[in-house]
Amino acid sequence: MRFVFKITIIGNGGVGKTTLIKKYTQGEFQEEYISTIGAQFSIFEYKINGDDIKLFLWDLAGQEDFQVFRSSFYKDSKAAIIVYSLERNDMGVESLKNVMKWYDEMRQQCEDIPIIVFANKTDLVEDTEIDESSYKELSAKENYLGVYKTSAKTGNGVSDAFKAIIEKLYTIHKEI
Ligand code: GDP
Ligand code: MG
Repeated sequence: MRFVFKITIIGNGGVGKTTLIKKYTQGEFQEEYISTIGAQFSIFEYKINGDDIKLFLWDLAGQEDFQVFRSSFYKDSKAAIIVYSLERNDMGVESLKNVMKWYDEMRQQCEDIPIIVFANKTDLVEDTEIDESSYKELSAKENYLGVYKTSAKTGNGVSDAFKAIIEKLYTIHKEI
């Protein structure tokens, strides 16, 4: 069988969304910060049990602050990834605070889809510094897959995290 899924990647600007997609789809880390205008998507093909899965990974590409733009961007998503940064600066702290905001906004557009959180930039913090209790608010939510730690720089955890959401999608749609 063939499956085509749109996965939308959201989260504050600078958390590493574009870099994660690049790392996952091309195995490349992008040092430079490039903020482009408009949405972008990458296409990625994946195989599970002999079934072909085509993924459209949608990236906000610098439009994080434009609410008007976002609702059309979410449309028809089959899954969503919310990224925040573990960096211990204002950007990182703010990005964690906003995880619920992104979650609620996504849920308004797509009620039932699986949503996963990536805690990115693990290479910049000690493992023990990661405060698991900060995700508590989310853990009771339906169709919430949990938090996966990633580093788009070293690649640590990246393919496991994508795999978790893709396999969940596959399982859901395979049954229909
Ligand atoms: P976006 O705005 O969410 O798309 O963020 P970008 O992907 O553009 O990344 C913002 C900056 O963070 C860039 O300078 C990246 O090189 C850097 N970055 C992204 N992921 C990581 C990571 O896991 N570790 C480190 N050290 N830097 C990262
Ligand atoms: Mg980006």
